[in-house]
Amino acid sequence: MTDLMTRRFDTLGPYSPLFYDRPIEFVRAEGVWLTDVNGDRYLDGYNNVPHVGHAHPRVVAAIAEQAATLNIHTRYLNDRVVDYAERLLATFDDAIDRIVFTNSGSESNDLAFRIATQHSGAPGILISDFSYHGHTQALARVTTGLRAHEGLGGHVRTLRVPDLDGQDRGLPADAVLAAALREADEAIAALQADGHGVAAVLFDSLFSTEGLNRVPSGFVSGLADRVRRAGGLVIADEVQSGFGRTGRSFWGHGNHGIVPDLVTMGKPMGNGHPLGGVALPAALLDEFGPRNMYFNTFGGNPVSAAAGLAVLDVLRDERLVERAHANGRVIRDALAALGSEHPWIGVPKGDGLFFGVEVYDRPAAAADALPDPARTKAVVEAMRDRHVLISRIGRHDSVLKMRPPLAIEPPDVHLLLAAFSDALTEVEGRANAPISAF
Ligand code: PMP
Repeated sequence: MTDLMTRRFDTLGPYSPLFYDRPIEFVRAEGVWLTDVNGDRYLDGYNNVPHVGHAHPRVVAAIAEQAATLNIHTRYLNDRVVDYAERLLATFDDAIDRIVFTNSGSESNDLAFRIATQHSGAPGILISDFSYHGHTQALARVTTGLRAHEGLGGHVRTLRVPDLDGQDRGLPADAVLAAALREADEAIAALQADGHGVAAVLFDSLFSTEGLNRVPSGFVSGLADRVRRAGGLVIADEVQSGFGRTGRSFWGHGNHGIVPDLVTMGKPMGNGHPLGGVALPAALLDEFGPRNMYFNTFGGNPVSAAAGLAVLDVLRDERLVERAHANGRVIRDALAALGSEHPWIGVPKGDGLFFGVEVYDRPAAAADALPDPARTKAVVEAMRDRHVLISRIGRHDSVLKMRPPLAIEPPDVHLLLAAFSDALTEVEGRANAPISAF
């Protein structure tokens, strides 16, 4: 253990996870490259917070300039904050015309729950059975994908999210859809029968924690219709899928053909500066606002607004959403081709510049193939050895997760793919060893 690790554990405690068997100490970053304490460079194939690139000069300058001019809490007029609200709202469907700023994804989801619960007069929540939406007490009580001591609240019902490229592969999409919506009907009926009613369904538009499930078309809209009929609201968590990550639309929910009632956001919004928000129709805010004095000291302060505006400017001027689409296709095609060389990896999952590749214990096409978390971890570590950052997700921690900053350029795309191909070959060479060797 390094001295810094010991000091970290002695101060922060050992419970806040670090990546890798040999954690990396980074000292600086630029674009899609990070430099560690030894001066070694690593390609970022993982981080979505530095959405437009690490230390993007325009974002850094905007933050520095505003911090040197005025930074103050949110109870004074400031044009930059309103400029940002207008610019951000212009990215949504017309029905969504108000924004409440926060500092994080958790705060955004927590506030969305308050609004939905007060709107419906009922506490009932529908959630995926393997998801993560944040760390407040209310969110810990709906947490299914990570450990949370609170356990699920009595007001919570979980849904299995179908996956046509995972557990439901090979099954007809319409049968998978019908079964999933039947389960939603049953969960809603159970919430009602138990007196909880339905306040909301909360879902990540990319189902990222679940493992980037490919849901049948009509799943999200069918769910939304059912929840609305039961008096609840639809909350799209865009913390992972927002700001053009999917390369197809600015917001992930657009890919499901729905307009949610509440959209929550965070992570990429300030490119590393803490910034989040809840976007919603005026009618919902007008219902919530008079009954609650919502004052957020830092949420949407002038420096945060400057960071957020700069992110929107860079996304537009560097055409990052289009580039995410184009680079995403190149990566997806290459991953699919690697699947024929290494049949133990599944078809590429995800959208735009967010990829998942499930790792199996035998050819993915075999009927008895099982997810292989040990082999997945071996690939992540082999990528680290090649100085490329990726990670893993999913119920079994068996889906390789690649999610580079949107600013990645074709030469770095090719480096990432070459390292991945090499890492798969190395791990495959060990595949005949006993599984515990991974
Ligand atoms: N929602 C989703 C989908 C997330 O992935 C996360 C964080 N990983 C959150 C919410 C919580 O965001 P934060 O850590 O900014 O509170």
